[in-house]
Amino acid sequence: MDYRDAIEIARKVPGTLVTRDEYGGFIVRRADGSLVEGHEPASDEITLLRQENERYQNNYDELFAQLNQTKQNYLTKLTGLEETIDQLKSSLNTLQAEHSSAINNLKELEKKLAKVSNDEWERIKIADEQARLENAKARKAERHIQQCACLGEVENCARCNGRGSYTADGYGNPI
Ligand SMILES: [Zn+2]
Repeated sequence: MDYRDAIEIARKVPGTLVTRDEYGGFIVRRADGSLVEGHEPASDEITLLRQENERYQNNYDELFAQLNQTKQNYLTKLTGLEETIDQLKSSLNTLQAEHSSAINNLKELEKKLAKVSNDEWERIKIADEQARLENAKARKAERHIQQCACLGEVENCARCNGRGSYTADGYGNPI
């Protein structure tokens, strides 16, 4: 278009600038770089305003859609977080129930223990010690045939003396 037409359009559409295109003709650009189509001969002020209005409406619709999408994303995230919180709360409740049950058991045991007299404690200690000694005696009396780690290849092996196996007690000590 010629300079006069371009100036005329730029005057009608606020925020636009007259500049030259690659062929040296005049064009009208908006601040965002988009071209104002002004070559239609019928383009009067109302048509231009209507076009601008449409552009604004489109921009608005696009931004509104983006906003809704962002909001939706956050809501989804929020729902996920709420579910996690519910799961954690439920785990916490289970743990608290287990904990209080363990504390109750402990209290019951403490009550029972409190009823045990000193004489009884002494008897229990002696019985425990006797059981321990008897158990140790029994294990020492056990006899097992062990394969020696030397596989019988060491003639003067301290464990098997070259036989490849030896007899051990319940603790694994060679006899
Ligand atoms: Zn050996």
